[in-house]
Amino acid sequence: MGENMSKRLKLVSTTEAEMEERSFPNQYPDWDQGFAVSNAGAEMDSDEPLDSEGKVNEAFLRKVQSKIKDLLQQMEEGLKTADPHDFSTYTGWTGIALMYLQLHRVSGEASHLQRALDYVKRAMRILNGRKVTFLCGDAGPLAVGAVVHHKLNNNTESKDCVSRLFQLQRSVVSPDNEMPDELLFGRTGYLFALLYVNKEIGADAVDEATITKVVTAIVESGKNMSAEEKKTDRCPLLYEWHKKQYVGAAHGLTGIFYILMQPGAGLHPTMLAELVRPSIDYVRHKRFRSGNFPSSLSNESDRLVHWCHGAPGVIHMLIMAYKMFKEEKYLKEAIDCAEVIWQRGLLRKGYGICHGTAGNGYAFLTLYKLTQEKKYLYRACKFAEWCLDYGTHGCRIPDRPYSLFEGMAGTIHYMSEMANPEASSFPAFEL
Ligand SMILES: [Zn+2]
Repeated sequence: MGENMSKRLKLVSTTEAEMEERSFPNQYPDWDQGFAVSNAGAEMDSDEPLDSEGKVNEAFLRKVQSKIKDLLQQMEEGLKTADPHDFSTYTGWTGIALMYLQLHRVSGEASHLQRALDYVKRAMRILNGRKVTFLCGDAGPLAVGAVVHHKLNNNTESKDCVSRLFQLQRSVVSPDNEMPDELLFGRTGYLFALLYVNKEIGADAVDEATITKVVTAIVESGKNMSAEEKKTDRCPLLYEWHKKQYVGAAHGLTGIFYILMQPGAGLHPTMLAELVRPSIDYVRHKRFRSGNFPSSLSNESDRLVHWCHGAPGVIHMLIMAYKMFKEEKYLKEAIDCAEVIWQRGLLRKGYGICHGTAGNGYAFLTLYKLTQEKKYLYRACKFAEWCLDYGTHGCRIPDRPYSLFEGMAGTIHYMSEMANPEASSFPAFEL
C-alpha cells in the first residue's frame, strides 16, 4: 500500500506540474494561405506537406518515414535502460507493443508484429494485479496480448488473454469498491480494454452482458456522485478523481462520456439522451471564451492545452456528441477547440501524446476524418513537421522519454499516421 500511495502522490504532483505548461507561439502559415499562393500560379513551396489537391505529398512522407526510422533506433537504444518493471501502456512495455502494432498496420511488415509480440509478452510476465485499466493496469497488456496473438493466429493464447482480462471484472463492477471511474485508473479504462478487444478481434470476443455490467457500474457511480453533490438536474452523471471533478480526457468527465458514447458500449438511447447528453452540456458551459476547457469544473485558469487537460481531449467528446446527437453546436465547439490547439498546441512539454504536440495533432486528424476539410489535415501535418525536429526546440525531457504516452513511441505513433490519415486513431483512446 505504501508503494501504491507514493505512486499516487507522484501522479498528483505530475498533474500539478502540468499546470505550468507554456506553449510556443505558432508561426506556421495556415492552409488557406498556402492554397491561395498555389492558385495564383506561384511555384508551390516544395516544403509544404500537402499537394494542390490536398493530399499528403510524397516528399513529406519520405521525410517522415526517414525520421521514424531514426527515432526507432534511438528508442530501442534508450529502452535498454528503461524501467524493466513498467508493463503499462502509458509508460511501459505494452505501449511499445502498441506502437509496433500500429507500424504493422501501416507497413504490413511481419517484423513489426513480431516486435509487438516480444514486448507484450515481456509485459504479461510482470503483471501485478494492482490496477485494472488499459493505460495503467493489467487490462492493457492482456488486451493487446489478445490482439497480437489473434493476428498471429495463435488462437489458444489469444483466448487465454481474453479470459484473464475477464477475471479483472469482479473488482470493476463491485459497487462498494473505491475504484475511480476515469480512463487512466478507473472503470472506464477497463471498459476501453473490452471495447478494444471487440473492435480488433470481432464483436463476439467479449459478450454483451459483460460490457453492459461494466457500463452500468460506471453509470451508477456517476448518478450517485451527482446525487451527493445535488446536481441531478443539471449534471446527472458526475465523477471525481482525488476529490476533484476533472474535465479532461485522462482523469475527467469528458474521457468517461466519450467512451460511454461509443457504439460498442451499447448504452441505451434513453440513457444517452437523459444522462450523458445533459452532463455533456453542463461541461460545455464551463468552457473558456477562447474555446479551451478547464482542467476541472472549479478551475478558472485557461492555461492547459493538452490531451489530458483541455481542448485536445475534449474535442474527441464533442465530435462523438455531434455524431450521436446530430446537433451543430457540438461540431462548432469542436472547431473552436481545433482553433485553440492550432494557436497554442505546440508544447514545451515535448512531442508526446498525453501532454505534447503529437497528442494535440490527433485532434486535427479526428476533425479531418469527420469533415474532410484539408485545413485540418494540413494542420496535422504541420504538427508532425514540428516533430521532425525532435529534441531541437528546447522542450522538457519527460520522465519516461521513450514511452508511448510521454515520449518517443507516441511521437512515432503519431508520425506514422501521415501515411494514411483516414485510418488514424489516438492509441488507447479512439476506437
Ligand atoms: Zn498528460
